[in-house]
Amino acid sequence: MIDTANNSPQVVIIGGGITGLSAAWYLQTRSTTNIRVTLIEASEKLGGKMITHKLITDRGKFIIDAGPESFVTRKPEAWDLAVELGLENEIINPGGETRNMYVLDGGEPKKIPLSPPAFITSNLLTLKGKLRMMAEPLIPARRDDEDESLASFVSRRLGQEALEKMIGPVLAGIYNTNPETQSIMTTSPIMREMEKEYGGLFRGALGRMHARRKQAQNGPHRPQFMTYKSGAQVMMDALREQLRVKLITGSSAEKIIHDGNGYQVSLIDHDSVYADAVILATPANQTSKLLADLDREVSALIGQIDHQNIGTATLIFNSSDLSLPYEINGLMIPRREKRRIDAITWTTNKPMVRGPEGFDMLRVFFGGGDPSLATMPEDEIVSAIRLELKDILGIEAAPVFFAVFCWPESFPQAYVGHQTLVDQIEQKLPPGIFVAGSSYRGIGIPDCIRQGRDTARQALEVIKINFN
Ligand SMILES: Cc1cc2nc3c(=O)[nH]c(=O)nc-3n(C[C@H](O)[C@H](O)[C@H](O)COP(=O)(O)OP(=O)(O)OC[C@H]3O[C@@H](n4cnc5c(N)ncnc54)[C@H](O)[C@@H]3O)c2cc1C
Repeated sequence: MIDTANNSPQVVIIGGGITGLSAAWYLQTRSTTNIRVTLIEASEKLGGKMITHKLITDRGKFIIDAGPESFVTRKPEAWDLAVELGLENEIINPGGETRNMYVLDGGEPKKIPLSPPAFITSNLLTLKGKLRMMAEPLIPARRDDEDESLASFVSRRLGQEALEKMIGPVLAGIYNTNPETQSIMTTSPIMREMEKEYGGLFRGALGRMHARRKQAQNGPHRPQFMTYKSGAQVMMDALREQLRVKLITGSSAEKIIHDGNGYQVSLIDHDSVYADAVILATPANQTSKLLADLDREVSALIGQIDHQNIGTATLIFNSSDLSLPYEINGLMIPRREKRRIDAITWTTNKPMVRGPEGFDMLRVFFGGGDPSLATMPEDEIVSAIRLELKDILGIEAAPVFFAVFCWPESFPQAYVGHQTLVDQIEQKLPPGIFVAGSSYRGIGIPDCIRQGRDTARQALEVIKINFN
C-alpha cells in the first residue's frame, strides 16, 4: 500500500530498469501496511535496457527492441508479472529461437545441427568431435556445487570441439562474454543442475522434456520463450501506468550517507531524499560509486564486478535487395573469428510481426569482439557493420532504415566465483541497503524481476512490515 503521508516509512529505489520497477511493483502490491516508495532514475525515460523504439516511416511502422526481446518461461517471473499487469493478450511465442541458427567458422556460416540426421551430416564438427559429443552420457557426473567456467563445463562434458565450434559461440553470444572466464553457476546453472540430477546433459534434456510434457498435460501450456506483440517496453509502460510510487526521473543519485536510523540519498539537481531502506537497482559499477562514502569495503567488493560495452543496431533492408542461399534466423560469431560484431539475428524470420511486409530486419549485436564500436558515433557504427555484413554474408545493399543503441560499460560479467562474491557483498551491506539486478544473481529479465521482488521483501522486513 502506497502512502504519501510524511510519517510513513520510506523505501528509496535507485534505477528505473526492470529490476527497480519490479521492486517498486512488489513494494506497492505486497506491503501489508502503508509505506512511501520513491524511485530515482537518471534518464528521463524509465526502462533501462528494456526499451522499444517505434520507427514510423513512410513505408510503415517498425517495432525495434533495443535490448531484451524474448524471455525464458522456465523461470516464471516475467510471465507471472505480465499476467499481474494485465498483459496476457500481449504475450506471444517468439518462435524460431533455435531454428536455422548458424555459427561463423573459418569465415563461413555453418548451421548448428539440432536433429540427429542434421548432426550426422553437419560440416561444423569433425567425426572425432561428433563421437566425443555422443559419448557425453558416459562421462561421469560432477555433483558438487563448486563453480567452474562455461568453457570448463562444456569441454568436460561434450569435448573441446563442441566448445569451440558449437556451444561456446552460442553461450558467448548470449552473454557477450568469454566462456573461459564466465561462471557457469551464474550464467547457466541449469546445465549443472541437469548434470547433478540426471547424470548428464542428454539424459537431463530428455528428463526435462518428459517433465514439461507431463506439466503441459496437467496445466496451461507455456511456450519455452515469450515476447510481447508491441515490443518489450510494453511491460515498462504498464508498470509506469500502474505504479503509484513517487518517480523522480532525469536526476542521478550521487551518494548515500547515514542519517539517524536511516539514510540520505543525494541527487544531482534535486533535493536529497530520506530513506529507511534503499534498493540499488543500478549496474554494479554505478552502485559501487554510490556506496563509496557509506562503506568503502562493500563499495570495493561491488566494484570488482566487471562490465563490458554492448550495443545493438537494427538494420532494415528491402527484402528484394537481399539474396541469401539459405534461411537464417541467427548467426553467432566466435571471438576467434576476429570480427567487429558478435551476432546477427533476423527479426523478420521469426513468427512475430515487427514491421510491414517486404523488409528484412537484421539485429546486429556488438561490443564484445570490438568494444570500441559501442562508443563510436552512430553513422560510423553502421558503416563498420555494413562492412562486416558484406564480408560475412555478402550483403552489399544499403539499409533503408536503421536504429542504433549502445550501453558502454553496462553489461555485467559474472566470472568464476561470482556467486561467492555476491554472497560476500550481501553479508557486508549495511543494514537497510540492498543491491539487485543483472550484475548480481542472473542477467535475464526473469532473474531481474525475481531480484526486484526479493529485495522488496527484504526492505519491508527491515522496516518491520509484512510482505504479502
Ligand atoms: C542487447 C541486449 C539484449 C538482451 N537480450 C535479452 C533477452 O533477450 N532476454 C533477457 O531475458 N535478457 C536480455 N538482456 C539482459 C537484460 O536486458 C538486462 O539484464 C536487464 O534489462 C537489466 O535490467 P536492470 O534493471 O537490472 O538494469 P538496467 O536496465 O541497466 O537499468 C538500470 C537503470 O539504472 C539507471 N541508473 C544508473 N545509474 C543511476 C544513478 N546514479 N541514479 C539513478 N539511476 C541510475 C540507468 O539509467 C538505468 O535505467 C539483454 C541485454 C542487452 C544489453
